[in-house]
Parts: sequence; structure tokens; C-alpha cells
Amino acid sequence: MKWVEAVPVDSKPCGACSLCCKLFDIDWLEAPKPAGKWCPHCKPGAGCKIWQSLPSRCATYYCVWRLDPDLAPIWRPDVARFILSHAHEEAPLAVLVDPAFPDAHRREPYARMLAETARGILEGRGSTLVVFVGQKRTLLFPDAEIPIPDGVQLHEIRIEAQTGAGGRFWRPTFPNH
Ligand code: SF4
Ligand code: SF4
Repeated sequence: MKWVEAVPVDSKPCGACSLCCKLFDIDWLEAPKPAGKWCPHCKPGAGCKIWQSLPSRCATYYCVWRLDPDLAPIWRPDVARFILSHAHEEAPLAVLVDPAFPDAHRREPYARMLAETARGILEGRGSTLVVFVGQKRTLLFPDAEIPIPDGVQLHEIRIEAQTGAGGRFWRPTFPNH
């Protein structure tokens, strides 16, 4: 998982949240770190210890909670225990879950609201949310969460709409490697 830059449209503060300093791969510091491990410069709850010389890529990242003025405080990542991110190079909308709370996105009201978001994206774009918990990846559908096999690239996945007794639903097809 790589962290890429986004343009902020709002100035909601990070407060005590530092979760992006844990959940992303970071390869632009003198000591690269994998997803799920705290950056050595982070003091969780207090922020970045090198804020006076903050790397530009750190200074220009904003999660969806920072970007969307309508997203309520329960979506702040240190409260939700997951990050919603538009600025993820592998997924149009990613849910990066803290591995210490791997079911965080399955709690209510998050599960219901993420399912509604998935339905909206599927109906509009034919893609869906990707959930990352450490190295595990799943596709989130309104009625199911389906694991992505190891080695499959996101751009290789095909998602098709189907109609069943309960109405319209979507399922993925994965390539054979
Ligand atoms: S995850 Fe979002 S709210 Fe938390 S520190 Fe990063 S940008 Fe700020
Ligand atoms: S350098 Fe600072 S802002 Fe960047 S990941 Fe590390 S703790 Fe976070």
C-alpha cells in the first residue's frame, strides 16, 4: 500500500489522530517502514516528532475525514480505527483498518454506511471499496466482503452486476495466475 498526495479542501484538524503514520507503507523516510507499524518519528496521540522539518509527502496527505466537511466526528480515524482514503494508488476508495482492531469497519453504524457507499460506487462506476487489514485485502459489497486472492492486482479484477431473488447484487471475477 502506498500513500500518495491529495489536495485538501477543508481544514478539519487531525487532533490526537496519527493513524496514517501507522497504516501506510512509507518509503520516503531515511528508515522506510511497512504498513501497520508506527513510523519511528511518531509519538501516538501527540503527533510527529519532526514536525519542524516535516517531509513534504507527509505534509500533503489528507484522509477523507480531513477532506470531507460533511463527515461526522465518528469517522475520525482514531475514533473509527480505520482510515478512509481517496489518495490510494491501488483503490479509488480504500478502507485501511488498524490491524489491532481488524473488525472495526464491521461495527455499526460503520458497516451499514460503508455498505451504502459501496452500493453507490458500484452503481455509478462498477468498482467498489477495497478493505486493507495489514496484508489482507477484501472487496466490500453491500451484502458481502470477499477476500482478494494473494497476487491478484486490483486492476485485474472484474466486477459484474447480477440479479437474484433479493434484487441486484455484484460479484468479482479474479484472474487465474
Ligand atoms: S489519518 Fe487523517 S485525521 Fe488521522 S492523522 Fe492522518 S490525515 Fe490526520
Ligand atoms: S515523518 Fe512524521 S508525519 Fe511522516 S509518517 Fe512519520 S510521524 Fe507521520
